[in-house]
Amino acid sequence: MWRCWIVVLAVSLAPAQTLAPDLILSNGKIITVDDRFSVAQAVAIRGDRIVAVGSNPAITQLAGPNTRRIDLRGRAVIPGLIDNHIHLLRAATTWKRELRFDGVVSRKQAVEMLRARAKASAPGEWIYNIGGWSHQQFTDDPRPFTPEELDAIAPDRPIALQESYYQVFLNSQAMHLLGIEAKTPDPADFIKGSVLRDSSDKPLGIVRGDIAGTRVVANKLPRVAPDQLEASAAELVKDMNRAGLTSFGVPGCDASVLPIFQKWKAQGSLSARVFCIDGAAAGNPDQVDQASQQIAGMKLFQGDNYIDTIFFGESVYSPLHDPMFALKSDPKPDQLEQWRRIAMSIAKAGLPLHVHAELRNTIDAFLDQIETINKEHPIKNLRWVLAHVNQINAAQIERMKALGMYAAVNPWAVINGAIMHEGFEDGAYDMPPLATLQNSGIVWGLGTDGTAANQYLPFTTLSFAVTGKMAGGAKVLRQTISREDALIAHTRKNAFLVFQENNLGSIQPGKLADLVVLDRDYLTIPEDQIKDIKPVMTMVGGRIVFDAKK
Ligand SMILES: [Zn+2]
Repeated sequence: MWRCWIVVLAVSLAPAQTLAPDLILSNGKIITVDDRFSVAQAVAIRGDRIVAVGSNPAITQLAGPNTRRIDLRGRAVIPGLIDNHIHLLRAATTWKRELRFDGVVSRKQAVEMLRARAKASAPGEWIYNIGGWSHQQFTDDPRPFTPEELDAIAPDRPIALQESYYQVFLNSQAMHLLGIEAKTPDPADFIKGSVLRDSSDKPLGIVRGDIAGTRVVANKLPRVAPDQLEASAAELVKDMNRAGLTSFGVPGCDASVLPIFQKWKAQGSLSARVFCIDGAAAGNPDQVDQASQQIAGMKLFQGDNYIDTIFFGESVYSPLHDPMFALKSDPKPDQLEQWRRIAMSIAKAGLPLHVHAELRNTIDAFLDQIETINKEHPIKNLRWVLAHVNQINAAQIERMKALGMYAAVNPWAVINGAIMHEGFEDGAYDMPPLATLQNSGIVWGLGTDGTAANQYLPFTTLSFAVTGKMAGGAKVLRQTISREDALIAHTRKNAFLVFQENNLGSIQPGKLADLVVLDRDYLTIPEDQIKDIKPVMTMVGGRIVFDAKK
């Protein structure tokens, strides 16, 4: 079939010189993720787009004298991976300073990384990370860190290690700098009870308390200096490309970081496509009026396929923003009325919505409101999306389908599976219900909600979806899906969830040349190796943005 298409192209377009691709990748296993999930051998690229996909002979014959050739030597190629919900720009403000544990499944290795960072830093300098891991991911020794242990690693440097939004481990110097002392009341801004202490009132070096509790510490940690922000953002994007990620749905595109991305775009060097989810959430009834006005004047889709703003989100009315580790929610009618007023404005303005919705009662309550809104302002073609949805059930998915809604699924269990099993017991095995989502036929995609709530590595997410195992290997999910469906959810379905289905998500003629060459074959390796897959080359718009050899 592809061969036919190529022949038509060769005959119908002239002259041959302008037809020749700039680049041909051949001798590969091109996992196109097109509608038939077809596999090809070669791909031709001209400018920033894919012009042909097919067999080696069909594609190589398109080469002109100036066509660059890359021999894939049998390697597998997939479309550039898309994360439908990641707080990417915010991460730039700390990335260069953070000591990240994403994908680190050995405690010994984590300790070595801490030692190396201590050695490379000056006394008094903070060593920290803000989420993206949990100690249960360490296969060799899954224990929490103690202040004594962290003091031994770096006695004269403050250390703060934040596990997702669950808790933060501190050493003595960090506690001292934060004002956490024995026999002294907690500093006023700490959430009551969040500073854990033993029976003699000695602080244990743990601040626990979901997003609100852990943020008190995170907000006090030093950000990268303004003159280092661009370098930090560049390191962040490089790490994303190294992981195989090329496009991002980004809640709250930070105003301090976005200009850097815009500058790179103008220079032709931007290697991350950023689709912003924007809009300030109201926090009380007074703010609802303001929010409704803002929504009426909000203009989306003013950008392009590198930077755009595409959704209102991710919060509509902040009192109904589910915390991460709450077991249950109880949305009140007066709160829901405010939520509905804002959501009604969004529907009336014809805007897409991408809203944080996690706990079962919250999802039901939001769907009640949306069904009411839908009678007045149909939302069918607006791409309204519920995000995270770890607690969603089959009945709710059916209601969403009837409304023409979609799901951005961000499995927090990838790092928090063990914690979630403590809280939800057997129910955690269905969080999120990936098989139910897949079998329902609803359009849904995979993302992480990184880089604090979750780790960001897509092959760790794909591994979780296929094996049900969290980072480190503990089985935490029974609702697994096929590796094909998982890949579709991380590419083509996510392209739809960032309004780029005509440009991204599969390797097909006419689409943008975003693709990833892998060190092993995603389709045939044992499923326990999916997490170990490493990109060897990542391309965005026909440009090589990561090359493992360099
Ligand atoms: Zn969220």
